[in-house]
Amino acid sequence: MAETNETTTSATRTSRSVLVTGGNRGIGLAVARRLADDGHRVAVTHRGSGAPEGLFGVKCDVTDAESVATAFKEVEAHQGAVEVLVANAGITADTLIMRMSEEQFTSVIDANLTGAFRCAKAATRSMLRNRFGRFIFLGSVAGTSGLPGQVNYAASKAGLIGMARSLTREIGSRNITANVVAPGFIDTDMTAELPAEYKEQALKAIPAQRIGKPEEVAAVISWLASDDAAYVSGAVIPVDGGLGMGH
Ligand code: NDP
Repeated sequence: MAETNETTTSATRTSRSVLVTGGNRGIGLAVARRLADDGHRVAVTHRGSGAPEGLFGVKCDVTDAESVATAFKEVEAHQGAVEVLVANAGITADTLIMRMSEEQFTSVIDANLTGAFRCAKAATRSMLRNRFGRFIFLGSVAGTSGLPGQVNYAASKAGLIGMARSLTREIGSRNITANVVAPGFIDTDMTAELPAEYKEQALKAIPAQRIGKPEEVAAVISWLASDDAAYVSGAVIPVDGGLGMGH
């Protein structure tokens, strides 16, 4: 019996090569720190801020395919080919549709959706070769329930669900999973920008009656990256205090 437990424990603690895009701050940094604490080899991308203390960093802009390719090569040379991709880099450019320029729409799609595609594509070859892979995309409650002023952002996050589910059907037989983690209102720079009255309104709609912490998103991603989550794919997992229930 003791032997069985030992096997289970070591199986759930396999050290993986992880890349977290936008892991220099906010949710991405909390995820990177958590996965490093879990015993994984973790790299983060940054756009010039440098790597956070104690983490390996590569400079990368996910809107630039060449920059993504270079970053993946650097990570592979440092810690082995990426086995767990946390596609976290994201931006907002909120405004009502009547005021939203085409550039405001396409720039958000390019960073949040096409950026995730560029990284997923860069990770796929080695995942297929090694018969192991975990794609974890940072979606949003907005991707399923929609939010006024976020036509661009919500569309980009909804697109990630289609991407994760298509990847699941396309390469799921090779021990590769693809999931979306959909945070609600989390305390980071992204939400710090929002007007106070908007935050008060949002708080009223959250059953948990509080804003979430980046570490609470990181805990779910830690599990998705672990061997325990091998049979979970194509899922959208909310981390939102109940905000998006029913979608
Ligand atoms: P932050 O604004 O705090 O951080 C965004 C991160 O993405 C930064 O590291 C930023 O890098 C990086 N980034 C942005 N654009 C690019 C790009 N073109 N190339 C590479 N990196 C880029 O956001 P959060 O931590 O709050 O959000 C992280 C993810 O979670 C996002 O995808 C967001 O949409 C999602 N999310 C967040 C929620 C929240 O309430 N906070 C709710 C739902 C989803 P740099 O430092 O260089 O700017």
